[in-house]
Amino acid sequence: MPAPAVLDLAIIGSGPAALSAALYAARAGLRVSVFERANIGGALCEIAQISNYPGFTGPGRDLAATMRRQAESAGVTVAYGECTAIRPLEPSAASAAPASDDASAQPAASANSVSDAAPARFELTIDGEPVRARAVLLATGSEPRPLPFTLATPVSYCALCDADLAKGQDIAVVGGGNSAVQESLGLAPLVKSLTLITHSALKAEPHLITQLRALPNVTIREHLESTPDLLNTFARVFVFIGKRPATTCVADLAASTPDFYDAAGYVRGGHGSAHQTAIPGLYVAGDLRSDALRQVVTATGDGAAAAVEISQSLRSA
Ligand SMILES: Cc1cc2nc3c(=O)[nH]c(=O)nc-3n(C[C@H](O)[C@H](O)[C@H](O)COP(=O)(O)OP(=O)(O)OC[C@H]3O[C@@H](n4cnc5c(N)ncnc54)[C@H](O)[C@@H]3O)c2cc1C
Repeated sequence: MPAPAVLDLAIIGSGPAALSAALYAARAGLRVSVFERANIGGALCEIAQISNYPGFTGPGRDLAATMRRQAESAGVTVAYGECTAIRPLEPSAASAAPASDDASAQPAASANSVSDAAPARFELTIDGEPVRARAVLLATGSEPRPLPFTLATPVSYCALCDADLAKGQDIAVVGGGNSAVQESLGLAPLVKSLTLITHSALKAEPHLITQLRALPNVTIREHLESTPDLLNTFARVFVFIGKRPATTCVADLAASTPDFYDAAGYVRGGHGSAHQTAIPGLYVAGDLRSDALRQVVTATGDGAAAAVEISQSLRSA
C-alpha cells in the first residue's frame, strides 16, 4: 500500500491571502491543504459590505465563499483545524513522510505535483494530529487583543458575527478608537442600551463620535477603567481594543530565530525571497507579514506572489 502523501504546501489560515495562495499553488500543480481554526474566509467574514475590492461589492462572506469554491475546484483541500505547532524535520526523519490519516486533509495529487520522493521539511500539529509538508505558508493575519481578565458575562470580538446575540439587551462596548465607535453605531439600533467605556478620551474620527452621541440609547463613559465588576453588570460585552499578529503557532519555533519578527511582532519576509521568513521553507503572506497594507486586495496579491515563490523553490530543490 502506498504511504500517505506529504503535502507540497500546508497553508495556515483561510483568509484572502491563504485562499489566493492556495489557488495559485494548486494551479501550479502543488498538493495543497488549507487549515482554518475559525471561519473559512478569515476577516472577510467580518466585513458587512466591501466597497474597495475591485470587481466586487457585497458582504465579505459572499466573497469568501467564492474564493473557497474557486480554490477547491482547483484541487485545494480546505479543512477546519487549529495549528498549534510547527517543527522543522531533520533530513532523516523527513523521508518517511506520512501526512495526516484524516482524509479531509489529503488533497489529490496533481499529475505534475512535486516529486513524491522529495522529503517533508516540516511537521505541523493540527488539532493534535501530525501533518507533514514540504513548505508552509503562514497566513494567520491578526486577531483581536483580548481583555486582560475573564468575565462571567459573554464577551464578543466581532459585531457582525454576534449582533444577533445582543438583540434587546443592555450591552457594553470597550474601546475608544474608530473600530469601537463604528461597531457601536452598528450595534446601537439593535440593543436596548449601549454603554461605551474607554479608559481615555475617545480617539475616533469626530464625525463618528458626533453620530454616536446623537443616539438616544447610547451612554459614553470616558476616562473610566474597565474592571470585571463593572463589565459583569452588562448582558454582553463587545471588545475593540486593537489587534495583534496571530503568531502563537510559531511562538516556540521563532523564539530561537533572529530577525523572525519586526518590532510590532509581525513576521518578516525577505530572507532569500520576498515572502520567505528567517526559517527556510516557512513563508508568510497577508496581514501577518511585516509592512503589509492590511487590506483584502493586498492580501490576495501577497498570497499569489508567495505561492509563485514557493512553487519555484520546490521545483528547483
Ligand atoms: C471588521 C473588519 C472590516 C474590514 N473591512 C475591510 C474593507 O472594507 N476592505 C478591505 O480591503 N479590508 C478590510 N478589512 C481588512 C481585511 O479583512 C484584511 O486585510 C484581510 O482579511 C487579511 O487577510 P489575511 O488572509 O492576511 O488574514 P485574515 O483574513 O485575518 O485570515 C487569517 C485566518 O487565519 C486563521 N488562523 C489564525 N491562527 C490560526 C491557527 N493557529 N490555525 C489555523 N487558523 C488560524 C484565523 O482564524 C483567520 O481566519 C477589514 C477587517 C475587519 C476585521
